[in-house]
Amino acid sequence: MGVSSFSIATPPNPIEEEDESQNSSLLSSNKTQSVNQSQNPKKTIFFISLIIITCISLSVAIAFGFLYYSSIKNVSPSKSVSPSMAETARPLVKLSQPVVLLISTDGFRFGYQFKTPTPNIHRLIHNGTEADLGLIPVFPTLTFPNHYSIATGLYPAYHGIINNHFTYPGTGETFYMGSHDSKWWLGEPIWETVMNHGLKAATYFWPGSEVKKGSWNCSADMCKHFNGSVAFEERVDTVLKYFDLTSNEIPSFMTLYFEDPDAQGHKVGPDDPQITAAVAKVDKMIGRLIDGLEKRGVFEDVTIILVGDHGMVGTCDKKIIYVDDLSPWIEIPPTSVQTYTPVLSMYPPPGISAADTVAKMMEGLKSGKVDNGMNMRVFLKEDLPARLHYAASERIPPIIGLLEEGFKVEQKKTKRKECGGSHGYDNSYFSMRSIFIGHGPQFGRGVKVPSFENVEIYNLITSVLKIQGAPNNGTESFLKSILLPSS
Ligand SMILES: [Zn+2]
Repeated sequence: MGVSSFSIATPPNPIEEEDESQNSSLLSSNKTQSVNQSQNPKKTIFFISLIIITCISLSVAIAFGFLYYSSIKNVSPSKSVSPSMAETARPLVKLSQPVVLLISTDGFRFGYQFKTPTPNIHRLIHNGTEADLGLIPVFPTLTFPNHYSIATGLYPAYHGIINNHFTYPGTGETFYMGSHDSKWWLGEPIWETVMNHGLKAATYFWPGSEVKKGSWNCSADMCKHFNGSVAFEERVDTVLKYFDLTSNEIPSFMTLYFEDPDAQGHKVGPDDPQITAAVAKVDKMIGRLIDGLEKRGVFEDVTIILVGDHGMVGTCDKKIIYVDDLSPWIEIPPTSVQTYTPVLSMYPPPGISAADTVAKMMEGLKSGKVDNGMNMRVFLKEDLPARLHYAASERIPPIIGLLEEGFKVEQKKTKRKECGGSHGYDNSYFSMRSIFIGHGPQFGRGVKVPSFENVEIYNLITSVLKIQGAPNNGTESFLKSILLPSS
C-alpha cells in the first residue's frame, strides 16, 4: 500500500473538527460580549466583581481540599501509577548485601487477595509495588513451564519445559514433573546465575531447583527436594533461619514455595469456600515470615517478590469436546495425542500430514455437529498466535488445540460427572493471571505498575543483586518502569 492510498483511506480527525467548532463558538460569544460591555459599563463592573468573588471562593475551596487530602495521606498510603522520579532506592540498614526472597503461591489467581482479609499480603502491597491487574503467565499456563520461566526469564519453547509432561520426539523418552536430569532443563536458572557470581543461593522447593546444573549442585543444606508433607510453617521457619547466619553466609537468593491454593482450586474451582480458607492460610504464612524478618531487623532490607504461577477457572463436564466425535472427518487414535486438557497437543495420525489433520479437524469442529466444537481451534504450531511464543522447540508437538477457558477435551465420552478447576489455557484470559508484589529497598511504596509477563522477573532479580544475568526473553525497558533508581 502506497502513501497516497493510506492518506485517502485515513478518515478526517473528528477531534480536530470538534475543536474547531468549539473555538468558533467561543470567538463568536467573545464578540457578543465586547459589544455588550461597551454598551453597559454598570453590567461590566457587576460581572468583574462576580468573577473576583468566584475566584476567591474557588481558591479557598482548593486550599481546604489540599489540606484535607494531605491529612488523609498520612493515614493511608498514597497510590501512584509508577515509581516517583524523585524517589530513590533506600539503603540497606542491617544486611551487608542485597537479598532476594522469591515466594510462589501456586495457582493464586489474581483477585484471591480480595476473597478474605489478607492483612499480611496487603501490608506488602501497601508498602511495595504491585502489578495492577496481576502477573501474566506464559503459555501454556501450567505449573512447571511457568515456574521455570520465572526462574530463567525464558519462554517454555526456549527453556525446554514445554508442558508438565511430554515425550521427546525420536527417542520416545518422557519428561514428567519428577524428572531431574539436566538434559531436559535448558537455559540458566537464577540459582545457577547467583552461584556463578560467587554468591550463595538456597531453594525451599521450586520446579527445576533439584536439578544439578553447572555451578548449582543442589546441596542438601541449601536445596530442599520437594515434599508436600512438610508443613508450611516449617518451610517459613527454615528460610528465616538463614538470616541467623553471619552476614557473609546469608544466601543472596532464596525461594519459598506453597502448593496452595492450587490444590484446592483443582478440586473445587475458584469460587468455593475451600479456596478462601487456603488463601487465608497463605496470608498467615506471609505474616509469619514478616514477623520473623522483623524480629531479626531485616524486613525492610530483604527484597520480597511474591508471585503465583497462574490462575484458575471453573470447569464442568458439560463443557467437553470429545476427540472421537471428529471421526466422521478424521480418525485420531489416542496414541497420536500427547496431552488433552487444557492444551491439546498431538501428532498427525499415521499416513496423514499435519496440515491435512488440522484442516480435517477444523472442518469437523466448525460443522456444528460436534458438541462444543466451536470452543476449540486447532493450529499447526507455527500458525499459533506469535504472542504465545509456542513454536520454536522440537519438543512441542506439531498440532496444538486451543480451548476456550473452562472447556476440556477428552478422547471419548465417559460417565464421569464432576466440576472442579483448571488452568493451562491461553495466557490472554484474565482468569489465568496471578499476582506480583515486590517489597524492598528498590521498590516504591504503594506503587501500581501495569501487568507484565513473568519472563521479566529473572532480570528483576539479577538487577537487585547487581549481577549480570544470562540472555533471556525479558525486556530491557521493564526494569526502569518498576525499580527505583539507585541513590
Ligand atoms: Zn501451578
